[in-house]
Amino acid sequence: MGVAVGVLALQGDFHAHLTVLQHLGAEARAVRLPAQLAGLAGLVIPGGESTTIGKLAEAYGLMQPMRNLAAQGAAIWGTCAGAILLSRDAHRAQPLLNLMDITVQRNAFGRQVDSFEAQLHVPALAAGKDGSSRTFHAIFIRAPMIESVGPEVEVLATLPAGEIVAARQGRLLATAFHPELTTDARFHELFLQLAGK
Ligand code: GLN
Repeated sequence: MGVAVGVLALQGDFHAHLTVLQHLGAEARAVRLPAQLAGLAGLVIPGGESTTIGKLAEAYGLMQPMRNLAAQGAAIWGTCAGAILLSRDAHRAQPLLNLMDITVQRNAFGRQVDSFEAQLHVPALAAGKDGSSRTFHAIFIRAPMIESVGPEVEVLATLPAGEIVAARQGRLLATAFHPELTTDARFHELFLQLAGK
């Protein structure tokens, strides 16, 4: 049986993450209640709307149990809205987990380019299926950017203009884009590696 991981399933595109993780052999389950965090080696917080996810997580009593899960050494990966939840500051009054030493700017890429795709150079990823590159095709949807990172945080990817869009702090991972919407599972593999350690 694969590593036990959860996907926070309050709002947003949690189902796509579950599908990829199950395909990779993980024992992946949807998390809606604190008791469902028990025994998990990792948790994905999906994209969606970060204020909504945070308010629902507070209402369901999940905020402190998710912090406790991280303190116990589980891997936690936030994609897009999930990355905002992991941050310590998003410049708005909204519930945050304050787990990663990053600050974010929501909807950082402007209305006219709400959504875009980019080829990212990600040295931390294994070479692609063709064996030749560490580029990752990234889909951004009303994405945040990571505007600052603390000393413990490793920057994993930037856009050509320098905006940070992926970062790691120990077993915590933040991506501003949506790997679950592509067929390239290398970020999910990286997350499962972090969860398996
Ligand atoms: N714009 C959303 C937010 O600020 C995030 C978008 C997404 O997760 N795709 O919460």
